[in-house]
Amino acid sequence: MLAGPAREIARWTIDLTVDPTANVSADVTADLTVDLTVVANRLPVERLRNRWVVSPGGLVAALEPVMHERRAAWVGWPGGSASGLPSMSPRGIRLVPVPLGDDEVRDYYHGMSNGTLWPLFHDRIRLPTFHRHWWHCYQTVNDRFAGLAAQTAGPGGTVWVHDYQLALVPRRLRELRPDVRIGLFLHIPFPSPDLFAQLPWRAELLRGLLGADALGFQTRQDADHFRAAACSLAGAWRTRGGLVHGGRSIRVDALPIGIDTNNIVALARAEKTLEKMAEIRGLLEGRRLFLGVDRMDYTKGIRPRLRAFETLLQRRPDLAEHAVFLQVAVPSREMALNYASTRGEIEQLVGSINGRYARLGRVPVQYQYARLDIDELVAYYRAADIMVVTPPRDGMNLVALEFVTTRVRNLGVLILSEFAGAAQHLRQALLVNPYDVDGVADAYERALDMPESEQRRRMRALRTAAQRQDVHDWARRALDAITAPATGAAA
Ligand code: UDP
Repeated sequence: MLAGPAREIARWTIDLTVDPTANVSADVTADLTVDLTVVANRLPVERLRNRWVVSPGGLVAALEPVMHERRAAWVGWPGGSASGLPSMSPRGIRLVPVPLGDDEVRDYYHGMSNGTLWPLFHDRIRLPTFHRHWWHCYQTVNDRFAGLAAQTAGPGGTVWVHDYQLALVPRRLRELRPDVRIGLFLHIPFPSPDLFAQLPWRAELLRGLLGADALGFQTRQDADHFRAAACSLAGAWRTRGGLVHGGRSIRVDALPIGIDTNNIVALARAEKTLEKMAEIRGLLEGRRLFLGVDRMDYTKGIRPRLRAFETLLQRRPDLAEHAVFLQVAVPSREMALNYASTRGEIEQLVGSINGRYARLGRVPVQYQYARLDIDELVAYYRAADIMVVTPPRDGMNLVALEFVTTRVRNLGVLILSEFAGAAQHLRQALLVNPYDVDGVADAYERALDMPESEQRRRMRALRTAAQRQDVHDWARRALDAITAPATGAAA
């Protein structure tokens, strides 16, 4: 006979109204042992030709240790057909695929998530598009994720939902499974309430998030923005630890994400990295290396930073011989309209700067449209003199944290946008307003001329700050916040 909680699971399963195409196998409900369920848009594995491999990427690496310690499952989209998907990842995490049709990938993912929420949450750097059919598809797909999470989580377990694609999952999941603890971490910024108020479905989205027990944000400002929006647009009340909504307490914390510090330091010191770094420095023949590494995305500020480099060359034409700007742009969301135009604008600018300043064997802007492996990337970090990170808006920016962590000799300069979450921690960078092209060019000159003693002083402080942001600590603190009893109960 089934024990009490198991019987309850069975009842909740019957209550589910998941889309029938969700293809949920009955034995999913029989697993009562899962105590941590991660719900994210993508599964932690991807298909490479005929094999399923662990996806590269920060979130997967970050969550692995905490998932390893628990009986864990991961609910997410396999990125295409799930045929041949193993039931466990190579590292022992149960995989629960959420199937999405082509129309849903278009409307839920490219549409509502990346055409509406992404630009709106990044302060409308590009205009968001509002379509009711995108929103309806977003609701349907969020319901499906919530349904599969409800069938996966063990009794009294913890469910940790990730990011803006799944904002409605906490509330829906709570309706289906009131016994589980639910947390959501927003990896991107939360906009100011007056911008957020433009979203036609603002109250529903907020109520979706408020279904959680704990909400985590990258910065204090993001958490403040969310609290203000929840109070003014969704009838929540403030408490010391967060909010009260619908008679329940919800924790709201700033929990800045970090990097795998030990791994980056080990890579920075590895023999292979030093060889690669020497090779890159050899190719530079004494020229100073400016480096930018970003996903090809309009929120990264690649174009204005190249305009600033052009301004620098106008001011000091001799630098065309003595400095190189290497911009690595990682292919990203190539299906989306805005992304193709972003790439076109950047490539045109690279051509125009080089057309004007290049000489045989001396090309001032080098551009690679490619993804680098982390070992190669670390060699570039080490070879660079000046790292340029200038997003007009960014949740955190791990590249900035990784760069300073590799500077084991304490030399080099970081130029960092004051609008990146990382700027809250890396105060000894040269902080710039990325919209101010002349100001960024000033920072380039300052970096070029900075005495080694000042570089050392700043870099030491930067490395200490980055050290405090370890991603494994982050995962533990975030999970503690979800499982801790709420403080500051309803007034
Ligand atoms: N990255 C990589 N190869 C590349 C460029 C970036 O592996 O060619 C990694 C980088 O090490 C970092 C992450 O991608 O960990 C980018 O994170 P970030 O927060 O800077 O930006 P996001 O792409 O998440 O907006």
